[in-house]
Amino acid sequence: MEFLATSLLELITQTSTNLPPDVRAAMSIAANAETPGTQSSQAFDIILSNVDMANDEEGPICQDTGMPTFVIHTPVGVNQIQLKKAVREAVAEATRLGKLRPNSVDSITGKNSGNNLGVETPVMHFEQWEEDEIEIKLILKGGGCENTNAQYSVPCHLDHLGRADRNLEGVRKCILHAVWMAQGKGCAPGAVGVCIGSDRAHGYELAKGQLFRTLDDVNPDPVLAKLESEIMAEANRLGVGAMGFGGKSSLIGCKIMAANRLPASFFVSVAYDCWAFRRLGVRLDAANGAITKWLYRDPSRPVERMARGEGFPLTGREVVLTPPLTEAQMRALKVGDVVLITGEMYTGRDNVHAYLMKHAPPVDLNGAALYHCGPVMLQEGGEWRVKAAGPTTSIREEPYQADVIQRYGVRAVIGKGGMGKKTSDALKEFGAVYLNGIGGAAQYYARTVEKVLGVSLKEEFGIPEAMWHLRVRDFAAIVTMDAHGNSLHADVEQATGEELAALQQV
Ligand code: SF4
Repeated sequence: MEFLATSLLELITQTSTNLPPDVRAAMSIAANAETPGTQSSQAFDIILSNVDMANDEEGPICQDTGMPTFVIHTPVGVNQIQLKKAVREAVAEATRLGKLRPNSVDSITGKNSGNNLGVETPVMHFEQWEEDEIEIKLILKGGGCENTNAQYSVPCHLDHLGRADRNLEGVRKCILHAVWMAQGKGCAPGAVGVCIGSDRAHGYELAKGQLFRTLDDVNPDPVLAKLESEIMAEANRLGVGAMGFGGKSSLIGCKIMAANRLPASFFVSVAYDCWAFRRLGVRLDAANGAITKWLYRDPSRPVERMARGEGFPLTGREVVLTPPLTEAQMRALKVGDVVLITGEMYTGRDNVHAYLMKHAPPVDLNGAALYHCGPVMLQEGGEWRVKAAGPTTSIREEPYQADVIQRYGVRAVIGKGGMGKKTSDALKEFGAVYLNGIGGAAQYYARTVEKVLGVSLKEEFGIPEAMWHLRVRDFAAIVTMDAHGNSLHADVEQATGEELAALQQV
């Protein structure tokens, strides 16, 4: 197997950095459907540029490279123990090269292994088959969209949709509910893989397995094909829009399967994947491990460029912010304003927020911009470089954020997906704002970082969870929660909830 290590590394690198053609095509359609000049359309501009940047630089499309999950088919006679070892080595090497973020955390100690290896990571599913070649498929699905997965035990009651019964109409309601619940937290527009039936554990696995279908295929079961196309049409009437900013696109794919179930159970399991829908596959020569064919790709078609312009189209109306920020500056901002931050900001996510509840911050946060981000970082020539740095889902910090704002004087919180009422109340009381970056646009934002000025808490929490001190230029974000109690997220949730209720009667 002289070529196996190279082939596996290439599979991981390409999956992390080069969006597959079916996803590119679906994203182009979604982007073109948006009304130019809207926040959703602006988000698409950044997303599409980011896809090109990732491919050009072979950098991760999104900084959250997810739980690497491999589905491997081998002919009889292939040594699966050796193959497993080779996959683990390739994952560690891809992490060392900055193609994957170190994402494997000990669930008891909280320690990051640093190389994406650990108990049950990466995930590998092996099957034997009667073909002569090895097939390896890989999906990288990040935490933001993983957290928006949903499982329903029907019959149940759903917000805005009423009762979901044990029939296809009940299934339809569950899927629409899951899309509505995801809003921008899973970096919409996304795709859903769905399993009707099975048990709780296997149902989720089968739902995720549906994400290995191409977005443009047609379900061979006419009943499920009809349901998939109805869900696509209805979900895109909800008005979630890119990043949950409100707009025409909510879904780029819906793939459904049905599995037998116990008489007493009826589960609908929904695996939600974000726009950064990273999955690829290869066929390997079983004798030497060389790639004989790429899956999900047409070798006759060159990689299509996605960008419609120069990333974020500036209008001249953007508000330039240079930290430290003042209360008056923050109170002057309103929902919908576009800001460009130039100057220093600090990253901080789950561990940092929990830490700040018990300890003083390692830096002065008075007037600071605090960025919910777990970047991919590499040390080159003795200096840290940002390899990918998009925003993470902010709602996880809801239990802490109001206290952090009050205690330490943070003026701008940057993340994605929005935050809840407690944070909104704190923004209003203390004069701060929430800024929504474009989720998954990790290459775009990495390029705004001029210099890594330092790092705190790296030894304690590992690279993604450390507090990085960054100097940025023209870091673009949209005010989605202002210091006057307004929240674009709450408005979109309400408006889409009304659309969802209208679908109840369809
Ligand atoms: S695009 Fe968004 S949801 Fe997807 S992995 Fe990246 S941060 Fe997570």
